[in-house]
Amino acid sequence: MSHDPHCIFCKIVEGKIPSRKVYEDDEMLAFHDIAPWAPVHFLMIPKRHIPSMAQLTADDAALMGRMLTLAPQLALQEGCKPYPEGGFRLLCNNGQEGGQEVHHLHIHVMGGPRPWLKG
Ligand code: 5GP
Ligand code: ZN
Repeated sequence: MSHDPHCIFCKIVEGKIPSRKVYEDDEMLAFHDIAPWAPVHFLMIPKRHIPSMAQLTADDAALMGRMLTLAPQLALQEGCKPYPEGGFRLLCNNGQEGGQEVHHLHIHVMGGPRPWLKG
């Protein structure tokens, strides 16, 4: 399924739910988390509705590679200090026991001075 009408992140992609955008292109979107745990906390998502990493296929390798290689650049853009003194954390929850609450694949990118609310 490329779009799920009940999915909040699909609604964010469509602009039906507002978000503070960090980055956008044809395939992906990055926006600030509504309940940040860290001074910098945004989410990177594919625009296509992929429920979690469990549904990825070989065809998604380039997309996932682009997301992962873009994350460090966006982290710096959003105020993370450079590696190694600064840095950032990536987190991707998958499934109920993996702690996933929104079932549209997303990578959390977190950073900034500690302490953080969580993690
Ligand atoms: P998960 O637990 O699924 O890995 O994380 C879902 C994340 O989405 C949470 O950190 C939560 O704060 C964020 N979130 C949930 N609903 C919205 C929303 O409507 N807008 C934004 N910007 N973030 C959301
Ligand atoms: Zn979705």
